[in-house]
Amino acid sequence: MENYMKLEIPGKHQNESFARVVVAAFASQLDPTLEEVNDIKTAVSEAVTNAIIHGYDDKEGSILIEGRLFKDMIEVEIIDFGKGIENVEKALQPLFTTRPELERSGMGFTIMEKFMDRVEVISEKSRGTRVKMEKEITKKEGYMTGE
Ligand code: ATP
Ligand code: MG
Repeated sequence: MENYMKLEIPGKHQNESFARVVVAAFASQLDPTLEEVNDIKTAVSEAVTNAIIHGYDDKEGSILIEGRLFKDMIEVEIIDFGKGIENVEKALQPLFTTRPELERSGMGFTIMEKFMDRVEVISEKSRGTRVKMEKEITKKEGYMTGE
């Protein structure tokens, strides 16, 4: 591992943009393309929003954001200690939502899987949810590490 970060924030909606900017700034150390940064931001937003509205049912709770940089890969974990997911396999399916009344489309996990290379969801009822995502960031020609 080349670098890591850990951040704890309350699950407030104004922290959705904060979380994605923090992770984007951290990821920038790997010199990603704009498209790669946007992919990471989108995935982080989806996971943090899920923690707030599903994990904590919009009641404030703590969210942990962890990032790890490897030579050509970033790993991001979004962790909540909320209600957990009853059936992870079902939750990962496109269009599955437990909150249709909130006009959720059930596409959050599908989006995370589209924009990241690997998404792993570990969840336990009444304990919380951990979404671990990885994305490869390929080294650009002539990239200087600054070391
Ligand atoms: P959208 O993301 O399109 O607005 P959504 O949030 O319902 O809709 P997903 O993000 O794919 O869709 O999540 C699917 C379902 O998984 C949710 O409806 C919810 O039941 C469950 N879920 C997701 N994240 C969590 C979490 N952190 N804690 C508890 N349940 C979760
Ligand atoms: Mg969602």
